[in-house]
Amino acid sequence: QSVDLNVDLVVIGGGPGGYTAAFRAADLGMSVALVEKRNVLGGVCLNAGCIPSKALLQAAKLLEEVAEWNERGLEFGKPVIKLDRLRDWKDSVVSKLAGGLSGLASKRGVKVLSGEGVFAGPNILEVAGQGSVRFNKAIIAVGSRPVRLPFLPDHPGIMDSTSALALEDLPKRLLVLGGGVIGLEMASIYASLGSEVSVAELTDGLLPGCDRDLVRPLEKRLGARLKAIMTGTRVKAVETLQEGFKVVFEGAKAPSPQIYDRILSAAGRRPNGDGLHADKAGVNVDAQGFIKVDSAQRTNVPHIFAIGDVVGNPMLAHKASYEAKIAAELASGMHVTNSAKVIPSVVYTDPEVAWVGLNETAAKRDGIAFEKATFPWMASGRSLTMGRDEGVTKILVDPVTRALLGVGIVGPHAGDLIAEATLAIETGCEPGDVGLTIHPHPSLSETFAFAAEAYEGTLTELY
Ligand code: FAD
Repeated sequence: QSVDLNVDLVVIGGGPGGYTAAFRAADLGMSVALVEKRNVLGGVCLNAGCIPSKALLQAAKLLEEVAEWNERGLEFGKPVIKLDRLRDWKDSVVSKLAGGLSGLASKRGVKVLSGEGVFAGPNILEVAGQGSVRFNKAIIAVGSRPVRLPFLPDHPGIMDSTSALALEDLPKRLLVLGGGVIGLEMASIYASLGSEVSVAELTDGLLPGCDRDLVRPLEKRLGARLKAIMTGTRVKAVETLQEGFKVVFEGAKAPSPQIYDRILSAAGRRPNGDGLHADKAGVNVDAQGFIKVDSAQRTNVPHIFAIGDVVGNPMLAHKASYEAKIAAELASGMHVTNSAKVIPSVVYTDPEVAWVGLNETAAKRDGIAFEKATFPWMASGRSLTMGRDEGVTKILVDPVTRALLGVGIVGPHAGDLIAEATLAIETGCEPGDVGLTIHPHPSLSETFAFAAEAYEGTLTELY
């Protein structure tokens, strides 16, 4: 077996987990090869996930807002959507960031190899078209891919999140399968751009697992823009006809069969641990494709680490990059462990929904004692100046220690606001600490302090 490259560390996968690990390890003095099968770095997040979706959601929010301001004395007229220019702009954001990543890799001396990597032994990786890499340590960061539903035909009219974000054209009638985070973000984009969008969700509510009081304001606003939100509805069969896809639904509230021009499948993601020949390195991969790790991100093989989507839920970029630093630091000989108490989650719809730590649904399910306080944004001056009053900020508190256990927010910018709550939980704050911290007025951030004051019984309102 010829060995073309010898490195301290090989990182497999160039997404937010992989490139972060490679950069951190190189900064710590290791020689690093970063293997990525796409011809660009950035993984799903940059190329087909977080970034292109947020670029398009920005456009979607603007379109919705402009229409609302017509009623408040600012008349903009009917928006003209130039899809080619919008797509070029979104692609330019992605390319700018991808170019930045390759610059950051070469500045650090990280050797980027384009090709699919598979293990050939515990210390050797074969990279398609490139040769082999002998390594002392490895970090697996191969991410995940969309689940393929077996009853969906193999047809260009059946989209997943990647093809939906390519935004080739706008279907007239679109069915989104799955009312989770990705499904609702995509539904928001296509509905704002002018498609007639219906969402079918198997469970009896949107965003399964999220507290209902946080979902309700989103359901109300989004519902007004969608043709239908069909919860408790299973897609039973899809038939390809001349005039579109005939979809047969099943469930207590299921409608009669409907015709759609396009179907977007957003029914979850599955990990890529199955395509690595991991057994050749002795690394265990479970039946779903996940690779189990300990609190030091180590697999069952001590010199091989795994991070990001491939190690489990939540499948989020900031979880991947946090784990990446731990794995890289351990691989370089430092002593660290994964000590994060909580990981924030954000749905970038309009309104945004964000939560961190314990939520009420999980607390009730698992019998965890909590006390709660809620602040409705209709009493927030800032919220009303924005023409929005549907938001809610909610805190959950440990009745014994009085520490903050969880925070949930729905409303514009909830995704930014949740960062302060995350810091508060990480640093063991009590509601009193948050309430006594002077927040700027008028701001949405005050709603967190007001919820804390409501808990403490010290809320006096400030308009
Ligand atoms: P990935 O980003 O999946 O990267 C893995 C890389 O490994 C890929 O580039 C793949 O090509 C490569 N690879 C796989 N196998 C091999 C191999 N054998 N050899 C070489 N290379 C290989 N998360 C958020 O936190 N915020 C968001 O707003 C958000 N929005 C999203 C929107 C959408 C539409 C989607 C689909 C996802 C979104 N996510 C979001 C999730 C986020 O993209 C992932 O959690 C994140 O990309 C995981 O990072 P990762 O490094 O583990 O894997």
